[in-house]
Amino acid sequence: MRTAILASQNKKKIKEIRAILVKYDMDVITRDDAGLPKDDIEETGTTFEENSLLKAATIMDMIKADPALCDKYHDSPVIADDSGLMVDALGGDPGVRSARYAGEEHDYDANNTKLLAELKDVPDDKRAAHFVTVITMIYPDGRKLVARGECHGHIPREKRGEGGFGYDPVFVPDGYNKSFAELGTDFKNTISHRARALEELERMLEQ
Ligand code: IMP
Repeated sequence: MRTAILASQNKKKIKEIRAILVKYDMDVITRDDAGLPKDDIEETGTTFEENSLLKAATIMDMIKADPALCDKYHDSPVIADDSGLMVDALGGDPGVRSARYAGEEHDYDANNTKLLAELKDVPDDKRAAHFVTVITMIYPDGRKLVARGECHGHIPREKRGEGGFGYDPVFVPDGYNKSFAELGTDFKNTISHRARALEELERMLEQ
């Protein structure tokens, strides 16, 4: 069985990705489990594609720079993902800055408050938005797969629901009257941008 190395430490992401890769005879471990340096990877890209490639390529470079790691993981692909929310009325913002929109990283409630304030005067029919996930998988020989998933919807006028994380309380997917936070994680995971990017990755692996 081949081992794929995941750039993220997020346990839920590992679980989702592992469930798919096991079908292709691959196990998934995190960069920490692989014993890679803990250095932060700065996300300097202007697109989700650039940032996910940057993360995957940096991890691959770390492996290649260390003879012991290189020996152990010589045939291991590296997987990285990057996600965010794009709001039409804000020209695609917060986009790649989604995690830090209101300042400090991952202050989800502050991000949501800022988003609703920015959209205060935007009418109901102009509040379209979509989540994006890009997953990049690169192999030691330079081959790469780039899978993109999107989930379209709109931004309601107030926060709704307690579940989920990030912008879930302020995103209502098309075809539903509830926010991601109200729909619940299990259901959300069947229609989300991340689920669609994983489906796309799976289609690419099948080919
Ligand atoms: P990441 O690249 O997956 O870490 O996502 C970056 C940021 O985008 C997160 O910190 C959240 O603010 C936002 N985000 C990404 N995916 C979701 C989601 O499924 N629901 C809500 N917010 C999300």
